Amino acid sequence: MDVCIKIIKNNKDFFDQSLDEIKLLKYVNKHDPADKYHLLRLYDYFYYREHLLIVCELLKANLYEFHKFNRESGGEVYFTMPRLQSITIQCLESLQFLHGLGLIHCDLKPENILVKSYSRCEIKVIDLGSSCFETDHLCSYVQSRSYRAPEVILGLPYDKKIDVWSLGCILAELCTGNVLFQNDSPIKSFMWKVVSGGIPVADKMVARGLKVDTRCQRCGNEGESSNHVLFSCTVARQIWALFNFPCPENGFDSQSLYQNMYYLLLVSKNPKVQVETRKAFPWILWQIWKNRNLFCIEGKSFSLPVTISKIRENVQEWIHAQALNEVTAEKMCKNGFMLKL
Ligand SMILES: [Zn+2]
Repeated sequence: MDVCIKIIKNNKDFFDQSLDEIKLLKYVNKHDPADKYHLLRLYDYFYYREHLLIVCELLKANLYEFHKFNRESGGEVYFTMPRLQSITIQCLESLQFLHGLGLIHCDLKPENILVKSYSRCEIKVIDLGSSCFETDHLCSYVQSRSYRAPEVILGLPYDKKIDVWSLGCILAELCTGNVLFQNDSPIKSFMWKVVSGGIPVADKMVARGLKVDTRCQRCGNEGESSNHVLFSCTVARQIWALFNFPCPENGFDSQSLYQNMYYLLLVSKNPKVQVETRKAFPWILWQIWKNRNLFCIEGKSFSLPVTISKIRENVQEWIHAQALNEVTAEKMCKNGFMLKL
């Protein structure tokens, strides 16, 4: 019998995550003795020379690799409508089974669907490494970006329906050959989260019924809101000041995120302020948030000068990209492409 042996990196985080995955695979395999629900079979696992080794069934390429190969090789199109229908049915059966056990897959994407047989168009769903029970305290960072459901992006409570969203994105991609929601702009989705109050600060976690320390981990301030982290916390104030961003006369509003965002938008449109400065606010907010996470999650501190230079770099890159886009658009106009569109 052919098998696949996965050697887990000798690192505590990988080890713990793999143990969780083994537990889940054993659990789902036990409930599917006849192997009817298109989920990876785990055969064995053992510890050897300080490495965890997982033995499972041997499968073929994943749908991302295979789709790419199929398109680029110029051969006969594999993903025809009847095959897509068959893949859809298998994925839905798999999800129905997982959901029936109270599990959410949490990372369904073309890389996690593997071909079992090309000729019979059989697939298997893999990677339960991020999966969780619906009754668990749910983590806010789940799913890969292009397949992430709106409720996850917004930091709202979610359930098994997020897997169905991902499946929809996957099918659209296999059908058209284009990723439905390109993840080209993490800054855009971050700003969207900020204005919709979706970044997972302590106040939000408490509102969702999670037991967390309600104080700001950085300054000890009671109640960690998005507005506090991004505008009022000591570190945030230092970053705004060091960047020489034209702050309001009496400082940012300590209560209203919307007031502050409105102010930033006004500055960004003010031609009297240098473009590198007035357009910088999304990256300033992004770096403040990244630094907050680095501190809260990994307990690491960061250097303010490095942060400031990172922000400047990001803004420069963005301005450069905008200029390139304008040139391309102009060329397209001249060549009459715009008229055709
Ligand atoms: Zn603080």
